[in-house]
Amino acid sequence: MSISTSVSGLAVTPGTPHSLHLTEIPLPGVGPNDVQIRVVDAGICGTDREIIESKFGSAPAGSASLVIGHEVLGQVEAAGENVVGLSTGDLVTATVRRPCGCPQCTAGASDFCAELRYTERGIIGLHGFMTDRFVESAEHIIPVPADLREIGVLIEPTSVAEKAWRVASGVQARIAEWEPRTAVVFGAGPIGLLTTLVLRAKNMDVYTIARRPASEAPAAAIVAACGATYLSSREPDITSIKRQLPNVDLIVECSGSTEAVESAIQLLGINGVLVLLSVTGGSRSATLPLDKINFGFVTGNRTMVGSVNSTADDFRAAIADLQEIETRWPGLAARLITHRLTSLNEAVGLMESTRGAIKAIVALG
Ligand code: BGC
Repeated sequence: MSISTSVSGLAVTPGTPHSLHLTEIPLPGVGPNDVQIRVVDAGICGTDREIIESKFGSAPAGSASLVIGHEVLGQVEAAGENVVGLSTGDLVTATVRRPCGCPQCTAGASDFCAELRYTERGIIGLHGFMTDRFVESAEHIIPVPADLREIGVLIEPTSVAEKAWRVASGVQARIAEWEPRTAVVFGAGPIGLLTTLVLRAKNMDVYTIARRPASEAPAAAIVAACGATYLSSREPDITSIKRQLPNVDLIVECSGSTEAVESAIQLLGINGVLVLLSVTGGSRSATLPLDKINFGFVTGNRTMVGSVNSTADDFRAAIADLQEIETRWPGLAARLITHRLTSLNEAVGLMESTRGAIKAIVALG
């Protein structure tokens, strides 16, 4: 590919905490199978914050810096001659992970990469989407319907919730009639809230458990507005929450805290599945009643399973569910976007300026 020009990007120097800066990176030419995309909105998530704190992330080979950002809504600016179904002006988003040569990646399931040698845009070894424009192979691009213009940037984090649902459904295929009624979501950040919305769209009774009391948590109103129940893990404690709830069929852990993982293990009901979605990142250890836990898992056919990343199919499921969510609770998903920065330059100070955000985005479009 020929290098035609360069673009600005919001970057970190991996290994140096809080090194956010603007940089210039080359914009590759548009090959026959590629699409050039102008960024409209780019989201900031917990992973980006970990990358900024240097807990995670690596730069592309030969580069000292990594342009962050893996949640994007963009608009097609140019498409290569072999690209079908994408035209200038179309709204699009892009998947995050790019395959290595392992059997899973080769089979199109890089979200189950067997060797952990994948790359991820804006996270591991590839520049991300916090830039004016980028070029990507059309196979990683997903068209976005115009009615999702306002919340299209939420498709990627929603796809992570969809993958959790796909994993849970796959695990539960062992049960002849799995009809989950009651779900618990730990965490009321963007992933916890989007998971709550997705499970409500599937008509489950959802209890979203987070640390802060409802009166102090802006997220609590969003949970209530879609008919889910917000509970604080502080009052009352998890044992009394367990007494109040029916059999918990599904738990999705999105809080980033090992205390929540412990609580989730205690709350999980008979034939239940617990999906671990968040990396807890610390070095905490705990003493657990393993005989009791093992007894409960064996005799109650309980399952605990991890889930990471998402595929193009999960993105398409996210688009369908966000449309359903918009129909049932108009404007509710948009309330997750609490902070809008309007330039890459402004985003250099994003850690300070977006404190307390549910979801912050850089709105370039
Ligand atoms: C992204 C995933 C990615 C994971 C680990 C998450 O924030 O949504 O796509 O696989 O980080 O890098």
